Amino acid sequence: MDFINQQVYNNGSYINLQIPKFCPQCGAVNNPETIILSKQNIKTSDKNELVISASHHCNACNKSHFTIQVESTGGSYLAKSVYPETQPSLLPEEIYELSPRFVKIYGDSEAAEQRGATELAGTGYRSALEILIKDYALKYSEDGKDTISKLNLANAIGKYFKGEFFSAAEVVRLLGNDYTHWEKKYDFKLEQLKAYLNVFIDHVKVQIMLKEPIVSTKKN
Ligand SMILES: [Zn+2]
Repeated sequence: MDFINQQVYNNGSYINLQIPKFCPQCGAVNNPETIILSKQNIKTSDKNELVISASHHCNACNKSHFTIQVESTGGSYLAKSVYPETQPSLLPEEIYELSPRFVKIYGDSEAAEQRGATELAGTGYRSALEILIKDYALKYSEDGKDTISKLNLANAIGKYFKGEFFSAAEVVRLLGNDYTHWEKKYDFKLEQLKAYLNVFIDHVKVQIMLKEPIVSTKKN
């Protein structure tokens, strides 16, 4: 986890805390409202250390994360523990609006990945792809819910995406299958699957931006 420093006013003076660079809840650049919950001298080993616990409220997601910090030099602290300990990627706004369930599954998969559960994460990213494609099709294709829900992932990709973006989704599907099937066919790393998924996410974002321009672009 990457950290940045934050100055916090406490009992008449400023102290320097270490906070996660990105909000552990939503992935936004972190600039939280910090509250010192406790400050105590604690005998940790053969020495006493000044230990504080702090909560950090993120204005982007309206949730708090916590840290436990130990004084290093006068008034400066180092974060020893962060909760939650995961670091989600910030997904595009357009994707949040199109498919909240995709965002949830993507985030859960990322949390699994960061805890070393790569098999579970691989399966999760594949499931996330299917949700994103079907939510996209429901909003932007002529097809209704009944038609879309009957498609398996391979058919859905083939029906709604062409060219290189078909290929990006296909790579995620084929590699993702390796995590769900007993027999593994390919030699690859999870980061590679995720990189193709991210290419695909960016493509969907661009499609939404073009289909729904923020100002009217119709010719008179
Ligand atoms: Zn947040």
